[in-house]
Amino acid sequence: MNTNLLVYNSLSRTMQKFEPINPPYVGMYVCGPTVYGPAHLGHARPAITFDLIFRYLKYLGYKVRYVRNITDVGHLEQDSDTGDDKIAKKAKLENLEPMEIVQIYTEDYHKNMRLLNVLPPSIEPHASGHIIEQQQLVEKIMDNGYAYESNGSVYFDIKKYAEKYRYGKLSGRNVDDLLEKTRTLDGQDEKRNQCDFALWKKASPTHLMHWPSRWSEGFPGWHLECTAMGIKYLGETFDIHGGGIDLQFPHHECEIAQAVGALGHDTVKYWLHNNMITINGKKMGKSLGNAMSLEQFFAGDHELLEQPYTPMTVRFFILQAHYRSTLDFSNEALKASEKGLEKLMNAIHALKEIKPGSTSSFSVQELSDKCFDALNQDFNTPVMISHLYDGVKHINLMKDGKETLTEDDLNALRKLYNDLCFDIMGLLDESSSSASSNDNSEVIGNLVDMIQKLRASAKAEKNYALSDKLRDDLKAAGVVIKDTRDGYEWSLA
Ligand code: ZN
Repeated sequence: MNTNLLVYNSLSRTMQKFEPINPPYVGMYVCGPTVYGPAHLGHARPAITFDLIFRYLKYLGYKVRYVRNITDVGHLEQDSDTGDDKIAKKAKLENLEPMEIVQIYTEDYHKNMRLLNVLPPSIEPHASGHIIEQQQLVEKIMDNGYAYESNGSVYFDIKKYAEKYRYGKLSGRNVDDLLEKTRTLDGQDEKRNQCDFALWKKASPTHLMHWPSRWSEGFPGWHLECTAMGIKYLGETFDIHGGGIDLQFPHHECEIAQAVGALGHDTVKYWLHNNMITINGKKMGKSLGNAMSLEQFFAGDHELLEQPYTPMTVRFFILQAHYRSTLDFSNEALKASEKGLEKLMNAIHALKEIKPGSTSSFSVQELSDKCFDALNQDFNTPVMISHLYDGVKHINLMKDGKETLTEDDLNALRKLYNDLCFDIMGLLDESSSSASSNDNSEVIGNLVDMIQKLRASAKAEKNYALSDKLRDDLKAAGVVIKDTRDGYEWSLA
């Protein structure tokens, strides 16, 4: 496999040629959601970013194993080592089992990802299903001397680790500063240093989710699951680890320390991070009153929204920014995306109708090269989309008969727009999906008509039992027939 793909590695802070460890196979791990509330806008960006990367790598011919986890245990409030488990807190609040909360919001997440046309990952492991793997990882880290037990909990020993390795290399933090700033003043603390993080926590008597271990009845630290499941499903070295930039520290920094502490080496070749979404220039958050669920977004049901926005408008909007740039959601920007997407889809519709000419007015190959060059520059979708708009100008000129393409070039242009818009960007033609539901109702109408004719001939033969049976069977199949004076009416139940 020889491609010109360059990716920006957050670890080296440089663009690097993408060369998988074991081509054509690519292993990609992305931190998934903590499922304690409805899927929101903040979930959409990493999901769509890594969906694009997943789709493009597959398009290039790689065989990608994409692992995206579900965090269902151990993620404490403020991402810290104290406080309630986010899921358990919600369970107490709603008087449900924690696993009921996990079920409800995993479903919700999946439903919204389907609407956004995000492909399911190859493997979607749950943290709670990998307690043994996580405990084994803790054992390894302890055996290597980088973790210690304290009151039934186990902590990663940053000071010890920093004697040999560089803690902070991903986020650019200085370990001496961390040790200095976070030095505990209170001798009662379980930790040797305040910046040490939990690998295993002893559960308090009221804690809902806990498992037996040789240290205590407890639960794994939040950072542990991704290291354990990444190694389990992708091996001791794999290609890509992704997630939101907010996870760089402490989550991913701790993941690196855990992997190195257990194995003596890094597991990840390329670290990729998507930037954050802001709303009207402000950070998004529950406490700020601007956290919008995707459902509210699609329904236009939030005071900040002037109208509903379709899943594809949201998807296109996210792809119109480079994944490493911040992205500000505003009604103006979203409406512009809505218009832009419509323009693109109209051009694709027009492209189907255009007839070939004897000469070509412009180079399709050149346009194609520009689009793929942009994608190969660290998945630069906004630049690629701007080239697609240049092509739209040509399509509109062809529609007006002012430009032409030969049959081969025209077919190449159609393929280019199909590949880039649908296969790689993962857009859906929302106007054609409503058209196809119209087609469906036409098909159902024809079938109902056919069955009505059978009923009429049954009645003519005085076989009322058969006529009634056909009506009842239709009803069971979801079609309600009402006999009227002039014939019949039908509706879907
Ligand atoms: Zn993670």
